[in-house]
Amino acid sequence: MQYMSTRGGGSPVSAEQAIVRGLAPDGGLYVPEAFPRFSADEISRFLSLDYPALAATVLAPWLPGFAYDELLGMCGRAYSRFAAPDVVPVHAIGGERYILELYHGPTHAFKDVALQLLPHLLRASKEKISDQSETLILVATSGDTGKAALEGFAGQDGVRITVFYPEGGVSEVQKLQMATQEGENTRVVAVRGNFDDAQTGVKRIFSDPEIEAALAARGICLSSANSINLGRLVPQIAYYFAAYADLVRRGTLLMGEKVNICVPTGNFGNILAAYYAREMGLPADKFICASNSNNVLADFIQTGVYDLDRDFRLTTSPSMDILLSSNLERMLFELAGRDAQAVAKWMVELKADGRYDIGADALNRLNALMAGGWASEEDVQDAIRRVWEEDQYLIDPHTAVAIAVLDQYRAKTHDQTPAIIAATASPYKFGGAVLAALGGDMPDGEFARLAALADRTRQSVPESIRSLKEKEILHTTVCDIAEMANQII
Ligand SMILES: *Cc1c(COP(=O)(O)O)cnc(C)c1O
Repeated sequence: MQYMSTRGGGSPVSAEQAIVRGLAPDGGLYVPEAFPRFSADEISRFLSLDYPALAATVLAPWLPGFAYDELLGMCGRAYSRFAAPDVVPVHAIGGERYILELYHGPTHAFKDVALQLLPHLLRASKEKISDQSETLILVATSGDTGKAALEGFAGQDGVRITVFYPEGGVSEVQKLQMATQEGENTRVVAVRGNFDDAQTGVKRIFSDPEIEAALAARGICLSSANSINLGRLVPQIAYYFAAYADLVRRGTLLMGEKVNICVPTGNFGNILAAYYAREMGLPADKFICASNSNNVLADFIQTGVYDLDRDFRLTTSPSMDILLSSNLERMLFELAGRDAQAVAKWMVELKADGRYDIGADALNRLNALMAGGWASEEDVQDAIRRVWEEDQYLIDPHTAVAIAVLDQYRAKTHDQTPAIIAATASPYKFGGAVLAALGGDMPDGEFARLAALADRTRQSVPESIRSLKEKEILHTTVCDIAEMANQII
């Protein structure tokens, strides 16, 4: 299996090289030359596998340079850090809605599923291609990737990590999680700007030959832990198969029966992984792409025009406060019939004019696969309250975006296909917003609110969140967007 750039530049590379590099040299994203595919029989066999074995089985065809046992060892280590015995348990709520809880990892967001594994994949990839350089991982985060990457890479030999997050654009808990990060090899910098500014700044550093040369002279190579990295994307495919196997095992679905998959989306990585699972043989019918009030994707799915000309909004689902959705480029590549020239042209237009139009054919292909919608802040509050009252189940604001959009979609289309909904964060990561949605007294301060939420719902605040209050703040650097490169040098 070789990987090529969505923009057609350079020659194909191995999985190891794609993981070590992150982004293709022409600024494109690495995509497989062809999708590996499982037969129905092979998928039936997933029913008897535990999560590490299932994940290793799904990863194997993407990473032919890795032995199955090697992958199994890595998955076993990565997923032993999850608090749930099933790693990614599925919880049924009313209306044939199945919540795939992806947030039982050490930082309480779905990013852990990939970022607990990525350090193992990166270390082994460097060994396999005899890459002796030190790796500097650059991360732009809307809140969750940063902490999950820090947690994954802290203390790892041969790797340093720098995380940029938008000052004022993350939740209180997200900020404290990052600012209190220990580990000699970690750095956290707040940027005066929004997430798009931080992500664009990081991409610019990646494509700056002067920075590359300056770092190379010191034996340092850049890589990415954002979902543009193939090593982030592939581990996310596995949990859609796991959820499906779970629903078949419990008799909810017959083997081969179709499900819909609804994903709260920002950078389009998680929903792209669901689409990749379908390409690999998962019986999925429609994907429902759920946005918050930064609704650029919802408009795109409706019109085929991606248009950045709109205000950037800060919401209670900050990990989705994104207008420039990186991984959409991999979807565009498929929608264009794998025509890299078409993708390259749209990306040039996006940079020059802030918009592109994929035309009627590609739009038809997109609409056959995917529906889009968006939830206002009021919709989010309403979904949190409704699911709590009707199902006694607590969801975070990102998951609430997904539920609100799924419910809208069903009301509009009458498509009642059983749906898997990606629950991407613990409600305690965004406790203040969740408590406000439930209504009632709002004590002062985020930690008092977390305690009130736990009290109200007879749950407990996860220990690693509760203890943040006592931890020492270790990272206080703030910089302008223009200074990001200097922070690296
Ligand atoms: C990152 C994140 C998302 C968005 O995921 P993408 O892969 O960027 O679309 C949604 N919810 C939470 C809690 C996240 O951390």
